Amino acid sequence: MRAAPILVWFRQDLRLGDNPALSDAARSGRPVVPVFVLDDDTPGDWRPGGASRWWLHHSLASLGRSLAAAGSPLVLRRGRADIVIGSLLRETGAGTVLWNRCYEPWAMERDGQMKADLRAAGVEARSFNGSLLREPMTVRTAAGEPYRVFTPFWRAVSSSPDWPEPLAAPDRLMPPETAPASDALESWGLLPTTPDWAGGLRQAWQPGEAAATARLRAFLDGAAADYADGRDRPGSDGTSRLSPHLHFGEISPRQVWAATRDAMLSGNRPEHRRHAESFLRELGWREFCYNLLYHFPKLPERPLNPRFEDFPWQPDSAALDSWRRGRTGYPIVDAGMRQLWTTGWMHNRVRMIVGSFLVKHLLLPWQEGQRWFWDTLVDADLANNAAGWQWIAGCGADAAPYFRVFNPVLQGGKFDPDGRYVRRWVPELAALPDRLIHQPWTATAETLRRAGIRLGTDYPLPCIDHKRGRDRALAAFATLRQAG
Ligand code: FAD
Repeated sequence: MRAAPILVWFRQDLRLGDNPALSDAARSGRPVVPVFVLDDDTPGDWRPGGASRWWLHHSLASLGRSLAAAGSPLVLRRGRADIVIGSLLRETGAGTVLWNRCYEPWAMERDGQMKADLRAAGVEARSFNGSLLREPMTVRTAAGEPYRVFTPFWRAVSSSPDWPEPLAAPDRLMPPETAPASDALESWGLLPTTPDWAGGLRQAWQPGEAAATARLRAFLDGAAADYADGRDRPGSDGTSRLSPHLHFGEISPRQVWAATRDAMLSGNRPEHRRHAESFLRELGWREFCYNLLYHFPKLPERPLNPRFEDFPWQPDSAALDSWRRGRTGYPIVDAGMRQLWTTGWMHNRVRMIVGSFLVKHLLLPWQEGQRWFWDTLVDADLANNAAGWQWIAGCGADAAPYFRVFNPVLQGGKFDPDGRYVRRWVPELAALPDRLIHQPWTATAETLRRAGIRLGTDYPLPCIDHKRGRDRALAAFATLRQAG
C-alpha cells in the first residue's frame, strides 16, 4: 500500500523550480497531489481583473503540462479554499497540506485560519517562503518598527543576502493511486470570448515557467548590460518585463537574483556592476511594496499619510474616460494608456507619468487609477499597484511629493526624445517632427496639414492646459496644508 499523499496547494507560485512547498513534498517520497483553487471567497474588488484572468488561464495550462510530465497532474477546483482543501483531504486520504505563503491581507487571514483549523483536525499544515527574498515579518528597523523609507530598507535586506540558493525542480513526482477529479480549465471561463479582446496580449506575452526563464535569460544576455540608463526609455526594450511572471510566481526572486549575480556580478566585468545593482534594486522595490502591504494592510484603500484622507478630489467621469481610453490630448499619456489596453503592460516611467496626470492634472482619486490598472495589467499585483499609486499620489511611503507635478511635455521630451514610443502607440501623430510629437497643439496649421492631422478630430486637443492643471492641483494640495 502506498503512503498517504501530500497536497501541494499552488497559489502565486506557478512553477516547479525553486518551489519550496513542492520540493518538500517531492523529497518526502510520498505521492503528491498538486492542486490549484479558484477561490470564490476573494473580496469582490480584488478578484483577478480581465488581463490577470487571461494570464492565469495560460499559466495554469503551462503548469498543468509540466506537472503531468513530472508524473502528477494538476487538480483544478473552484470554491472556497478551506472547503475545497477539506474535501480533497478526504477524497485522497492525504494527511499533509503544503503551500508557499501569500501576503494579501485576506489571503493571510484565510491561510492563518486554515492552518489552525487543519492542525486542530490533526492534519499537518506547513507553509514556506517562495515569493520574496526576505519576508516582511523578518525585516524591521533597529527600533523594531517597519521600514517606511526605501533606501535603508534595501540596505538592510541586500547587505546580507542570507536567503537560500534556488531549488532545482523535482525530477519526478509520485502520483496518488487514484487521481482526484479536476475541473476542465476551459470551464472556468478565464479567457475573454465576447468579444475576444486578448489579441494584443497573445502577441506580447507567453505565460508560463519556461517562458519566464527564457525571458530572464534574454534580458541578462541583452538589455541588462545597459539597464541603469535604458530602463527609463519607454521606446526601447530596456527592462526585463518579468513583472507578470514574478507576480504569478512563474519565476522566483531568488532565481532572478542568483542568475543576475552569476551573469553580471561575478566574473571580471566590472562595467556590469552598476547595471546589475540598479536592476536588483528594482526587485528591492518589489520587496519594499510587500513590506508595506504586510505592515499596512489598508494600503490598497486608504492613504498611508492620513492628511490625504480629506484631499479635495474632483470626480469627473468624462475626464476619467478620456484617461482610460488614451484620449487626453497629451501624447505620452495617451501612448501609455493605449500600450496598457493593447498589451496589458505599461513601461514604469510611463506608469508614473499617467499616474501623476490622473491624480494631479485631472484631480481624480488614485484609487480610480489603481482600479483601472488592476483590471487591465497582466502584472496587476496588490502590493506593487497600491504602493505605486500611493507613491505617485504623494500619500504613500517615501513618496514623490505631491507638489512635484510632472509636465507631460517635458517628460515626453526627456524620456522619449525621438518620439519612438508615441509614434508606436499613437500612430495618428507619427508624421509630426520630433520637436512637436509631444505637443502637437503647438504645430502650425500647415505642419499639421502636411502630417495629415486634424487636431480635435483625429487626435484630441489637450483636455486640460498644463499650467491650469498644475495650479489647480497645487491649490487643492494647499487646502491640506491649511487643514494640517
Ligand atoms: P524591471 O525594471 O525589469 O524590474 C524588475 C522587477 O522588479 C519587475 O518585474 C518588478 O517585479 C520589480 N519592480 C520594478 N519596479 C518596481 C516598482 N516601482 N515597484 C515594485 N516593484 C518593481 N508592478 C507590478 O508588478 N504590478 C503592478 O500592479 C504595478 N503597478 C504599478 C502602478 C504604478 C502607478 C506604478 C508607478 C508602478 C507600478 N508597478 C507595478 C511597478 C513597475 O512599474 C513594474 O513592476 C515594472 O514596470 C515592470 O516592468 P519590468 O518587469 O520590465 O521591470
